[in-house]
Parts: sequence; C-alpha cells; structure tokens
Amino acid sequence: MKTKILSAVITICIAITSFSQNSDADFIAQKIRIRYIPHPNTAPLEVIRIPVSQVLGSGYIFGTTSENGMNVCARFLKHLLRPVGRGADDGQPLLQQIIASTLRIMGDSVVVDIYKDDQVLNAYAKTQYLSDPNYGDDHIWPAAWRDDTGPAASGSSHTAHIQFGENFAGGYGITEMRRTFVHEMMHTQDFSDVRAHIWGRFRYGADGDHYGFELLPNAADAFGEGIANSMTYIYSRISRNETIRWFANNDYCVIEMPPTDALITSNHLPPRSEWVYTQVSSTDPPGAGLVSSNPTFRDYRVYRLAEMPSRFLMQNEQIIAMIGAEYALKVGMNHYFQALRSGNGRLFRVSTSAHARWFEALSNEAIPNGITMNDIRTTSRASMPYLYALALADYFTYYRSTTLNEFKAMFENSLSEDWANVYWTVGKDITRRAAPITLSRGRPPVLNVQQNIDAIAAALGVSTP
Ligand SMILES: [Zn+2]
Repeated sequence: MKTKILSAVITICIAITSFSQNSDADFIAQKIRIRYIPHPNTAPLEVIRIPVSQVLGSGYIFGTTSENGMNVCARFLKHLLRPVGRGADDGQPLLQQIIASTLRIMGDSVVVDIYKDDQVLNAYAKTQYLSDPNYGDDHIWPAAWRDDTGPAASGSSHTAHIQFGENFAGGYGITEMRRTFVHEMMHTQDFSDVRAHIWGRFRYGADGDHYGFELLPNAADAFGEGIANSMTYIYSRISRNETIRWFANNDYCVIEMPPTDALITSNHLPPRSEWVYTQVSSTDPPGAGLVSSNPTFRDYRVYRLAEMPSRFLMQNEQIIAMIGAEYALKVGMNHYFQALRSGNGRLFRVSTSAHARWFEALSNEAIPNGITMNDIRTTSRASMPYLYALALADYFTYYRSTTLNEFKAMFENSLSEDWANVYWTVGKDITRRAAPITLSRGRPPVLNVQQNIDAIAAALGVSTP
C-alpha cells in the first residue's frame, strides 16, 4: 500500500513539472536565440544578441534609457518568456503553451531576428541582412524558414529562423503579433519538402504572395501555410471564428491566373494546363470567374467557395487550417502534435504529398488502443474517431466530392487506399447524414459550422479529451 501511494505522488509531481507554465517558458528560453538588428540600413553590420535574462529583468530590452522605439516587440518578448500573470507585461499562458508544444514537435531550436525597421529598408539592408536585393517589401514582413537539417539532428543547433520587425508589430498590434509568431513557429518545425523542383522560387505562384482566401497553385505550400494557420486558430478563437464565418457564408476565394508562356518556360514552372485557374475556368460552371475591383488582385479571378471542386478547396490554407484546428480541439492537442511529428518523419527530402501523409497520421492517431487496421477495414463499429479527420475534409469542402475518385483527388491521389476506401464506404454517409449540406443552384445555405462539427464528432464517436 505504501509503495502505491508513493508512486502516485511521483506521477503527480512529474505531471506538474512537465505541464506547468514555468516549464513552457523555460523550454522556450532554451530553444530560441534572440537577436536584435538596430540599424539595418547603415554600415557596419550589427547584430546584437539579447539574452533571455534581459527579457526577465527589470530594465529595458532594446536600449539603456528606453526601448529605443521597439515597444511592441519588447512587450511581445515579455509575453513569450516571463512568468505567467495577468499584468500587461507578464507571460501569457496560452501563448507559451502553444509555442512550447510547437517547439517540442521536433525540438529544433530557432534564431529569432528582430529588426528596428521604422525606416523603409534600403538596398544595403536587403543585400546585407536579407540576402535578397529584390526583397519586395518596404519593411520586414514576418517569415520563417529552416536550414536543410533532417530529423536525425540533435535539435540543439539553431537550424530554424524567424524574422519580424517593429513596423509589423506596432502597425498590426500586439495581439496580431502573437498570432503571427504562433504561425511562424510552426514553419520552423515542419519538415515537409517544398518541392522546389516543381515550383522553383515561385512557391506561392508567379506573384510571390499568398492570401488566406487564395486557392494556391502549389499544393505543397497550401499545406505548409495550412498547418501554420492551424496553430493560430487553436491559439485564437477570434481568428478561427473569422475563418469559420467565411466558410459558413460561402464567401469569396481568389485564384491566380498563370503567367505568360515566356515566364513559365524560363522558370521551368508547371505547364499552363496544371494551374488551378486553367482547370477551374475550362468548365462552366464555374467558368472564368469575376474580376476584382482591387488592383492587388489584377492577376486573379474571384469565385464563391462552394463553386470550387473539392480538390481545389483543399489547396486553400484556411480550409486546411480549420481541419487541423478542429481535429486538435476535439481529438486532443497531444494527438494533433503527435500526428505532426509522425508525419514529419516521412517527409524530409521526400517529394511526396505532405497533405496525404498528414491525413494518414491524423487518422492513425485517432485509432483507439487495441484496434488494428484490419479491424478497421473489415468491421463498422459504433465509435470510429479515426474517420474524423477525413470527415472534416469532406465537410469543409461542402461534400463536393461525388465519387471516390474525386475524394481521392483531394489528397493528390496519394492517400492510402485503406483510408480512402473506409471513409468512402462507411464514414461518408454517417458524416453527411449528421450534418447535411443541401446545395440549391450550387449554393449552400448559411451553415452553423459549430453545430455541424459537433454533430459529426458525435456520430463518429469522437470523445472530447
Ligand atoms: Zn506562413
């Protein structure tokens, strides 16, 4: 008896140390190296290391007598690293929890470069600091990237990078700064191959930009941005609800038109016939799409979401993100992070569909103990939480897949036959009965998404953790 109580006490202690907020802040402190670039436009090069102790201390972080105009960045670092509390300069529990969980996916450490970019960046800054004389923005646009380091590395070296500046932080505000950092941090732990041999430097299409409501030409980047957004949606209910409203209202999406044949040839881009716009516009409906009155979208055409075939909706970063976030909220955060980890193990330097591997990992992660793939293949049962990820994929594409082949095309025709077949023969009808969407002349009614998702989860026996 005595031993038993003792072991229970030990278990509780371990649980407290590994999940307490202080431990999250400590873990983040170990995994990031903060650097400050105080005058990007003028020589000499200067990059100042900011130790975590400086964020935790009572003095200024970016200067000696003031924050040197870096006020929002300073406050952000305090939210990221200080002990949690309710004060404006205390650590933020949810921010620390999700950043630490994301860093734990692969354990890779991250260099965070923070720029004082109140002045428009000049040629010196673009060449010396950003290594890109053609950098398209006037100020630092938040971004993250990884060196080519695989899962076998120890994670102790800084192989991932995030950059942002006070212009963004101050302009968009502290709340959006936190949401953006959550997004960028996911990029640092994502091993999926960007498939540069297909798209070269035109990862987001010929214009180099991606928009939340864009159906991206490149599936690899739709996936990368999608899982990064999923973290923001888990972190911010407000961001999540904005996107849910967009989907519920069958709102607008945009598609980039392919560039000139000369540009396609000189940059070895995929042939015109493979661009989403070519495929969408060649059938009527949906046809050529609307011209936007916004000059930013001159090279795009505008559609309603539900007009789009399901496989193209899957090339939208917000749709992917809603699937990831809703899975995490219902099946459990630990399962979501574990699925990202196991998916990563199959992606490094492999030109495969990261998307399909992710759906397989999400489905595998939701299999209850003791049930085998053979059981799943052969028996329908009352509780099938392992079909939830695919059910969300079906729902968030308005059930536009009408054949098994259309369903498979949503996963670049790469999803395992087992999962595709089991969902199509067993899960599809349960899902569509639980939350019907009736299109009338191609348009859905305004959807009650939360109610629909709850009904699908209940029908599949997903038990909320
Ligand atoms: Zn991103």
